[in-house]
Amino acid sequence: MTERKSVSLSPAQITEQLQAILNKTASAENYQLERETVKTYNLIVNIEQSLPKDEKGLSNYYLLFNAWIRWLSDWNNYSLNLLHRRRLIGHLELQLGKGKFILEIYPYSSKLYGIKPEGWKTLIQLHEALDYMTEYDCKRFAASVKRHRWSDLKQLIAEYQGRGSQWKELSLHFQQTKVNPTHENQTRGRYYDLEKVFSACNQRNFGGKIARPKVIHWSPRVNHSTMGSYNVNEDILMINRGLDRPDVPAYVLDFVMYHELLHKALGIKTSGSRRMAHTKEFRELEQSHPDYERAQAFIQKNAKRL
Ligand SMILES: [Zn+2]
Repeated sequence: MTERKSVSLSPAQITEQLQAILNKTASAENYQLERETVKTYNLIVNIEQSLPKDEKGLSNYYLLFNAWIRWLSDWNNYSLNLLHRRRLIGHLELQLGKGKFILEIYPYSSKLYGIKPEGWKTLIQLHEALDYMTEYDCKRFAASVKRHRWSDLKQLIAEYQGRGSQWKELSLHFQQTKVNPTHENQTRGRYYDLEKVFSACNQRNFGGKIARPKVIHWSPRVNHSTMGSYNVNEDILMINRGLDRPDVPAYVLDFVMYHELLHKALGIKTSGSRRMAHTKEFRELEQSHPDYERAQAFIQKNAKRL
């Protein structure tokens, strides 16, 4: 594990302190809210600056923690986290009563939520990727927790997951950081080498102008819906392992790589608290790919069979 000079606390200790401070900020009275908010945000940015830039050799826990702090050190994300906490705390206080619960929001790699008694309080743990819950979701959530209606809760989360791609992008952001550092740059699959796919795609579609992402890797498992992803904050590009087959044409890989590199080229636009990855500009450029139609057709036809 890499030594860290400016941060003397362990990630677990910092996470614990941050949880407490973020919750305090979220439940602060209006008149002191702004001051607390800026104070907490500055704290996060300070931690972010002291994180190691080279993450090689760090444990998964550190990687997850780093990704979380980097995520929060963007003002839009931080505000979203705070808004979400504030809503939830409001509804939980109405349903369970003040001081009757502990709310913790985490950058889990797989778990979405957990609820259990802790002494005479209820410990509620949620994944950061649930940040896009609406006011109504929060209300339903709090009501389900109060009445111990766990199937309602499950239903609510399933509906939330089905509603959009934002939560998915966010949960991928944390999943990808779990890449085992020793395997992270293993681009060679059974049939395709992503290093070559990247270089060819870069030459063909971008005139060689795109810098190689820090990490290019195959997804750990075959995925039937997501063909690839690009993590803007971490500069990690992932391609679905299901495409590493001899019956998948090279133009399909070129197109999927092109889509993900477009994300790198264009970045994420924000409008309010919404993060826009697939803007109108993005879609137009995507359609200009020479194999756009047949690649899309292939994916639609074969995704389930990969
Ligand atoms: Zn995309």
